[in-house]
Amino acid sequence: MDPGTSEKRVVEMEEIVRLAKARGFIFPSAEIYGGFRSTYDYGPLGVNMLRNVKNAWWRSMVQLRHDVVGLDAAILSSPKIWAASGHLENFTDPLVDCRNCKERWRADHLEPGPDGRVHCPNCDSTDLTEARAFNLMFKTFAGPVEDESNAAYLRPETAQGHFVNFSNVLRTSRKRPPFGIAQVGKSFRNEITPGNFVFRTREFEQMELEYFVPPADAAKWFDYWCNERFEWYVDLGIPRDMLRLRAHDKDELSHYSAGTSDVEFLFPWGWGELEGIANRTDYDLKAHSAASGEKLEYFDQATGERYTPYVIEPAAGATRTMMAFLIAAYDTDEVAGETRTVLRLDPRLAPYQVAVLPLSRKETLLPTAQEVLGLLQPVAMCDYDETQAIGRRYRRQDEIGTPLCVTVDFDSLEDRAVTVRDRDTTEQVRVPIDRVVEEVRARLGG
Ligand code: ATP
Repeated sequence: MDPGTSEKRVVEMEEIVRLAKARGFIFPSAEIYGGFRSTYDYGPLGVNMLRNVKNAWWRSMVQLRHDVVGLDAAILSSPKIWAASGHLENFTDPLVDCRNCKERWRADHLEPGPDGRVHCPNCDSTDLTEARAFNLMFKTFAGPVEDESNAAYLRPETAQGHFVNFSNVLRTSRKRPPFGIAQVGKSFRNEITPGNFVFRTREFEQMELEYFVPPADAAKWFDYWCNERFEWYVDLGIPRDMLRLRAHDKDELSHYSAGTSDVEFLFPWGWGELEGIANRTDYDLKAHSAASGEKLEYFDQATGERYTPYVIEPAAGATRTMMAFLIAAYDTDEVAGETRTVLRLDPRLAPYQVAVLPLSRKETLLPTAQEVLGLLQPVAMCDYDETQAIGRRYRRQDEIGTPLCVTVDFDSLEDRAVTVRDRDTTEQVRVPIDRVVEEVRARLGG
């Protein structure tokens, strides 16, 4: 099989949700109180994996480039930002109410039934209100007095932090277009219909690049980033036939966009967006210049030209993308006549890269096991597990996607060697303890 294609393993969403909760990737938030409105907490494995997703993005978008710098802007933000950006007026979804069961829906997510009428997905009634614009931003108050002069918003996208800091970054980083500002962090949207696990939540994490270019080069850079971002998902293990790039129709475009293409993933329920790549033109910089009175432009000393750069924005969701990686990696196969579940995660994404497993809890083995653990911890995220039969421990590590298990057995005390087991092939090789770091590094790809 071509490594870039899948055999279309169909995994049920329930399986992913079950595994995520049972193994400690993602828990429903406030579960002991019955949960809280589609919010989720990332457990010991989830927090590692989510961090790996964000690190992989940062590595490719910032570390391995000379033309991108980072930013971490405030989440709590001034209404002036959102008035100027157009979000106060335009960041809305069309909301309809079912008069019968009182459920609320996004009008653009409802399709007419065979009778040509739109039905409530909950009670099937056709008695729905007209659609009205519902602003998705969470509003709060900064300080003790709850009046309009203290209004503040939780950012609904990390972008805008990039735009309002444009001059600060330009001055301090000494970059010139084409250059980018990258940011990873939480965003908040009061979604009308959150759901599909962490696909759509009200609190989520984004990974956004704003890439500033001379206006005449915008089309070229738009194509460049569409290709670059698509390949990022492939490089991290999503089969090509589970991904597609889809251009938005004119009526789908956001208020700031002259063109958007989405990277979509084949979720168990169908195609869904992982990332939008938009040509935001000079909309945001001009809007903030006009509203703040600060000139947000670039002056090219070589040509004497002054201009407002265009912006190409690849905007990805970290939490949604982590779920896509889980779905794409989920597999079952047969080992020694038994069915096993295995997450074939890229080692760069796996919550643990290595599990160090003493064959038994006998005290004679533990010092050597802990010595090996101490050697490996600086080079890889390690799990350490001494309980249960070794076969069951291997299965557990397979199920959470750990690429390598390093087993310390009684022979290790004699020959100063350990067994390294590969998750995907289940093959085991004997490696001297002196060479275990080298071996693990090579197998993890560097
Ligand atoms: P959608 O059409 O799914 O509502 P969007 O087009 O509004 O998404 P963008 O504004 O382009 O999304 O945000 C960029 C990325 O942020 C999305 O591709 C997605 O991965 C992520 N994202 C957006 N909204 C949510 C959400 N409510 N929950 C989780 N991730 C989200």
